[in-house]
Amino acid sequence: MSENNEKTKCLIIGSGPAGYTAAIYAARADLSPMMYQGLQPGGQLTTTTEIDNFPGYPEGTGGPEMMEDLKKQAERFDTDVRWGLITEIDLSKRPFIAKADDGKVIEADSVIIATGASAKWLGIESESEYNGYGVSACATCDGFFYKGKDVAIVGGGDTAAEEATYLAKLCNKVYMIHRRDELRASKAMQSKVLNTANIEMVWNHVPLEVVGEKEGFGKKVTGVVVQDVKSGKQKTLKVDGFFVAIGHKPNTDIFASQLEMDDMGYIKTKPDSTYTSIEGVFAAGDVQDHVFRQAVTAAGSGCMAAIEAERWLSS
Ligand code: NDP
Repeated sequence: MSENNEKTKCLIIGSGPAGYTAAIYAARADLSPMMYQGLQPGGQLTTTTEIDNFPGYPEGTGGPEMMEDLKKQAERFDTDVRWGLITEIDLSKRPFIAKADDGKVIEADSVIIATGASAKWLGIESESEYNGYGVSACATCDGFFYKGKDVAIVGGGDTAAEEATYLAKLCNKVYMIHRRDELRASKAMQSKVLNTANIEMVWNHVPLEVVGEKEGFGKKVTGVVVQDVKSGKQKTLKVDGFFVAIGHKPNTDIFASQLEMDDMGYIKTKPDSTYTSIEGVFAAGDVQDHVFRQAVTAAGSGCMAAIEAERWLSS
């Protein structure tokens, strides 16, 4: 075997709460897991400045800090955590063969996929400039910081509708910016949005720019410039927070045509389990869940995946 070829009982792909929790459980079950962290080590939470809803942190914690804690915990039990990306994987026969961007070829008896999903962004420069400083793609995570304030959300699907109604309970006013004059969201969610007094629809508009101030070492959002798609007219909505809810994309490209997925590309798992359509391959976290998408639910399914991998390997 060349020095670039390695073997593991359990390969974990992805390093968000699902991946690290799977690692902690797999390592404690003596599977000596190997983890490739992926493009964004720590996952989506590393872009969140404060996490107040993960149990066990009474004073809250930062996203990067929490992921660092999870990594340390996984390493304490001898998880082989590697910086890098799995670029190819063959799940057609066992052991599964994965190729990494560090040149390694890994033979894995079992695989836990925890590659997560990525929020879609508008792609405007000021959106990334203020990301984490007033711009967010998760109202459930960050809405609390805008209690009593005015915010805007862009999108017209179920996510945007759900997040707008969530924000409306906390905030003074919610502008919902949508590029058409009709929502894509389900009828029930449309009716909730349209009957919530402090949600103001901004129909037929698209956001052009997030505006803000730089305060000392920090930054803060003060508004969003929107444009009427019909007339081209622009106006500025004065807001403290700007939420982007234009959909998510599961990170499943390398598994395409190998595993069963739904039509949005999320990996299908068997009910009440993390089993995928291929024996020995398990999926945990946002890569198989577009409904809850919380760190704690991802961590829970990471735990399930490791327990199921261990039981499957020893069966
Ligand atoms: P969707 O793809 O359904 O909606 C995305 C929305 O964002 C659309 O209204 C779209 O506009 C708008 N949009 C997309 N790109 C841009 C852009 N560049 N600029 C401005 N607006 C843009 O994504 P969701 O995340 O809302 O939902 C994904 C799936 O998950 C759906 O099937 C949904 O039903 C489901 N879901 C279910 C929930 C539940 O049952 N509780 C909760 C949340 C999601 P346009 O309409 O013009 O295309």
